[in-house]
Amino acid sequence: MTPFDIAIIGGGPGGYAAAIRAAQKGAQVCLVEKGRVGGTCLHRGCIPVKTLYATARRLVAMKHLAEHGIQVDGYRFDSGTALRRKDAVVSGLEKGIEGLLKSHGVELLRGEGTLEGPGQVRIRCANVIGRIQARSIIIASGARPFIPPFMTQGGDSVLTSDEFLNMEALPKRLLIVGGGYIGCELAGIAALFGGRVTLVEQLPELLSGIDRPAVREMEKNFQELGVEVLKGTAVQAVVKSGASVLVKLAGQEKELEVDKVLVAVGRRPNSANLGLEEAGVVLRNGAVAVDAGMRTSVDNVYAIGDVTNILQLAHVADYQGEVAVENALGGKAEADYRIVPATVFTFPEIAQVGLSEKECREKKRNYRLGSFAYQASGKAQCDGETKGAARLLAAAEDGRILGGLVYGAEASALIAEVATAMRAGMSVGELAGLIHAHPTLNEIIKEAAADVLGAAVHKVGRRNRSAGSSSGETLG
Ligand SMILES: Cc1cc2nc3c(=O)[nH]c(=O)nc-3n(C[C@H](O)[C@H](O)[C@H](O)COP(=O)(O)OP(=O)(O)OC[C@H]3O[C@@H](n4cnc5c(N)ncnc54)[C@H](O)[C@@H]3O)c2cc1C
Repeated sequence: MTPFDIAIIGGGPGGYAAAIRAAQKGAQVCLVEKGRVGGTCLHRGCIPVKTLYATARRLVAMKHLAEHGIQVDGYRFDSGTALRRKDAVVSGLEKGIEGLLKSHGVELLRGEGTLEGPGQVRIRCANVIGRIQARSIIIASGARPFIPPFMTQGGDSVLTSDEFLNMEALPKRLLIVGGGYIGCELAGIAALFGGRVTLVEQLPELLSGIDRPAVREMEKNFQELGVEVLKGTAVQAVVKSGASVLVKLAGQEKELEVDKVLVAVGRRPNSANLGLEEAGVVLRNGAVAVDAGMRTSVDNVYAIGDVTNILQLAHVADYQGEVAVENALGGKAEADYRIVPATVFTFPEIAQVGLSEKECREKKRNYRLGSFAYQASGKAQCDGETKGAARLLAAAEDGRILGGLVYGAEASALIAEVATAMRAGMSVGELAGLIHAHPTLNEIIKEAAADVLGAAVHKVGRRNRSAGSSSGETLG
């Protein structure tokens, strides 16, 4: 059999996109997938969660219809339909990816791939074992949710996001362990779907990587939704009790009784049973160690995505795949993680890119901050979505944009403008000088950039701000 140029193990957003890119560059590619193409992102992650989020947004919108004069006399929410819609969205996208792979001539091999000697992958499917040869191999096997062993005492009432997203009905009383983005997103959705939600985080803060103004706004919303947030609180025991589960929390006398416990405390790289160590591939804390070119310690073996545990995000997996493919085909690409947008689909949406204010302070960067509130945006007023703000950080010496935070409607889309400006090496003056269409939410970004220079038009002038009532800006 003629060897493939590239064999990819794992068909998630890292692996399938890498396969298509390699094929576009003229390579003979095969993609080995033991489950369903699309991986975690499509089947157990980004897409199902954001489909449910879209339903939750509509439930929020329902509450405001009367402001527009739209009277709806009683409505019924059938969460089962919403859950089935999510499955339909996922299946549709899966078919789309399969079609794309086919149209690019990528050979999709269904089975479990294992490294077996240099340039050789063994594939096991339904007890049939086959072998393929490839000049380069890309490991894109992803990660899986982790449950601390003591929590398994809760039996089948203790779920990971995998099982949670597969439920036919969401639980009425839900405890979520972990205040990272997965825990926070699912807390908001479950509450809007009618659940009584408690969110427990061991650390003193939720979303520890995100600057506080956004997190405070999210916490205000949790309060409105009735989500009980317990920060700095450890789960000590989880025990099944009939159809319920009893949870002992540190510092609380009484056990909490819930229907389900959702554990969202991190994900472990899928690096076992792939023949990696036998092939000499070095692992670091269970993740495949790679250099900036996504090369492992073994020649012509690359790794991308969650299995590298660099940044567990779908768009990072995709980007790393591009780098690995380039190098596998003789190029010299290097990954650069300075401009990676991260989004959290809570209420409001949160998006951050580049340096955070916390990082600027820790790194002792001399920076300036500009901010602009949704409240002052014409478009936000038209939409009736006036909560939130954009905050831009610029280097004090030349105004280059160091990072940005947006929290409010469409923050996940607005952050792309900040990322693009950063990539182009723009200063806040240049960004503020761009003509932005009116009325759009993007004007919030323009105004935040202008505010770094004290030149935001729709913001109370600095001269008129009384001493001590600044909007929190620190002129670094
Ligand atoms: C609830 C949740 C929400 C998320 N939301 C977002 C979000 O909004 N935005 C975002 O950017 N990221 C999000 N993520 C993270 C995102 O899903 C992952 O970062 C992304 O899927 C990683 O892609 P990957 O290709 O590395 O791995 P995966 O998507 O995990 O794919 C790996 C694939 O490899 C296959 N595989 C593994 N071992 C083998 C083998 N030996 N042989 C053959 N096949 C194998 C698996 O079956 C799987 O299909 C979310 C994750 C979760 C859990």
